[in-house]
Amino acid sequence: MSDSPKAGAPERNSSRGRYRFREYHVTTVPAPLALQTFEAVCVTGEEHNCGAASGTLHTPGELTRWNAGHCAQSGHELNEQTVRALVHAEPGAWQ
Ligand SMILES: [Zn+2]
Repeated sequence: MSDSPKAGAPERNSSRGRYRFREYHVTTVPAPLALQTFEAVCVTGEEHNCGAASGTLHTPGELTRWNAGHCAQSGHELNEQTVRALVHAEPGAWQ
């Protein structure tokens, strides 16, 4: 014999939701430089980009060398470079 709640009562106990999301701080820690990879894609071209790609490189020096080599071969000077790095998230205190 329980009292049934009033129909349409605006009160809702939000703490009883099945899913609860709380904000908490996450500190992102960059991985060591050794875990970064680099890639360049040549975007020189008038009607369409050249598209020559360096593939995955492991040091900025390799990237520079690829750029210099491709420029020497083709005269292309504009590259789009991508740096890919792992970032480690460390959850902080609950807020
Ligand atoms: Zn090119």
